[in-house]
Amino acid sequence: MKKVIAREKLPELWKSLAAKGPLFLPIQEGPVVLFQPWQEGAEINLDAVNTAVSPKDVFLPREETYMQYRCSGKQLELIPAENIEPVTAFGVHPCDLKAVEMLDKVYIDQDPPDALYKKRRENTTVVGLSCSEPDPFCFCNEFGVDPADAPGADVMAHLKNGSVLLEARTDKGKALLEQAGDLLQDGSKETAEVKDVKTADFGLNLEGLPENLKERFEDPVWDELYKSCLGCGVCTYVCPTCYCFDVEDFGHEGEGQRFRCWDSCMYGHFTAMAGGHNPRAGRKERVRQRFMHKLQYYPEIFNEIACVGCGRCLRSCPVNLDIVQAIKALGGETVEQR
Ligand code: SF4
Ligand code: SF4
Repeated sequence: MKKVIAREKLPELWKSLAAKGPLFLPIQEGPVVLFQPWQEGAEINLDAVNTAVSPKDVFLPREETYMQYRCSGKQLELIPAENIEPVTAFGVHPCDLKAVEMLDKVYIDQDPPDALYKKRRENTTVVGLSCSEPDPFCFCNEFGVDPADAPGADVMAHLKNGSVLLEARTDKGKALLEQAGDLLQDGSKETAEVKDVKTADFGLNLEGLPENLKERFEDPVWDELYKSCLGCGVCTYVCPTCYCFDVEDFGHEGEGQRFRCWDSCMYGHFTAMAGGHNPRAGRKERVRQRFMHKLQYYPEIFNEIACVGCGRCLRSCPVNLDIVQAIKALGGETVEQR
């Protein structure tokens, strides 16, 4: 099913979708674009190359309550996790959707699956958005991502001159377009007008890299590579394929909650143990963990490198210690500062 909507009609579409449940979109917030819940008057930016933080928190929120509890004397009352509503995520670029599929392998394809993540994934209708103007940091082509198509989307959206073409790919996607009713026009004769989009070619040699890294845990390259790292954790926070979290209890006077929140392998306390031992006590161990996880540990289990070339760590790291620099250094190349 293909439908088309004039650009000036999009605010009406946002409003109608938001009336049925939370709607996440790329929203301009000052100088940055963030993937956030729609509100009346929000400045939607569908032309943005990428949101500063990936849309992963639609499926894996930064903070999420498992359960609440109340104690009264010897009575303990457990209140289950919040209700997970149907959500629409509109404007997810192909690299970010590919990253969600990598998270699915971790959170859904394992036994047992992560119940909260699975429910959010099932309850979300994803509208993918093709890219036409990548910036110099986008390099998804190197990981086999087509910027013009997101195969896992329920609806694929393509920006055209003055309109948006919406193509339903799944039953959920078809239902979304049907719900929009008269706001959408028949688009069966429309075509996407998507060019052959090329992203940056950093000349990365990925062939056999995971295998090659198996024996390189103690490689001297790590002794140099980590030195500029500030341990700020931004790279993991913005990365769509990072998925670590911490579980904490917060309570006061007989009531409280157990929740999880994003955590980062770049923080010293991430692996601190109750007895005081910390297997990754220094920045070298932590930087090595981040890159080995993406380039060796994840591929060993799931058969693909855990990077989609979104470019966020290239844009965000204050010292340019990003995955391109790491792959080049591991390949014996001199790392140039950008
Ligand atoms: S690699 Fe860069 S972004 Fe990541 S923790 Fe170190 S300084 Fe921060
Ligand atoms: S490692 Fe960097 S380029 Fe790769 S997916 Fe993460 S943020 Fe994007």
